[in-house]
Amino acid sequence: MKSLEEKIIKYGVVRDGNVLKVDSFLNHQMDISLFNEIGKEFHRLYKDENITKIVTIEASGIGVACIAAQYFNVPVVFAKKSKTSNLTGDVYQGRIYSFTHQCFTDIYIKKSYINEDDNILIIDDFLAMGGALDGLIQIVDEAGAKLAGAGIVIEKGFQGGGDLIRSKGVRVESLAIIESMNDGELVFRH
Ligand code: 5GP
Repeated sequence: MKSLEEKIIKYGVVRDGNVLKVDSFLNHQMDISLFNEIGKEFHRLYKDENITKIVTIEASGIGVACIAAQYFNVPVVFAKKSKTSNLTGDVYQGRIYSFTHQCFTDIYIKKSYINEDDNILIIDDFLAMGGALDGLIQIVDEAGAKLAGAGIVIEKGFQGGGDLIRSKGVRVESLAIIESMNDGELVFRH
């Protein structure tokens, strides 16, 4: 998506450890007109799939998932990263390795919010090694729901998670794929 690539080039900051900071428009301050374009693009890609629900993970997937959900007219369910007392009843549980925090985190979704009648679109802001997406796919599988695919805003292609998950037959649509960001220079895959 050209406008997204332009934003990344203009405002993205490459940090040590292969981290791209885009918090001026994506995951801290949020550019809602860009989010609307992103939502429309996910809808264009998945509109024929009869999506019943969008699944994401807290915190930074939620904003973009909610805007996209307006185009699909479906609910959003986000996986929680802690099992608070609010999370009552049976839960699905997945385990993810967080690239940014470098540790394992358990994630939870209440069983009553996903079931075998659902056709799920997973949405997230970033795809790097694939841990977060893999954890969400585990939960969708456990629920017996159908997975239509994933919609990712920025994939860091050089970290391999996206291609690994695609090789398992999962449709992964990323709106910008970064092939490399050596010495701060961003190269996109087209
Ligand atoms: P993965 O699980 O695919 O390794 O990483 C995906 C998750 O890590 C995303 O949910 C995102 O929050 C975070 N993440 C991974 N790489 C980056 C990055 O370069 N920049 C930012 N801001 N977040 C990242």
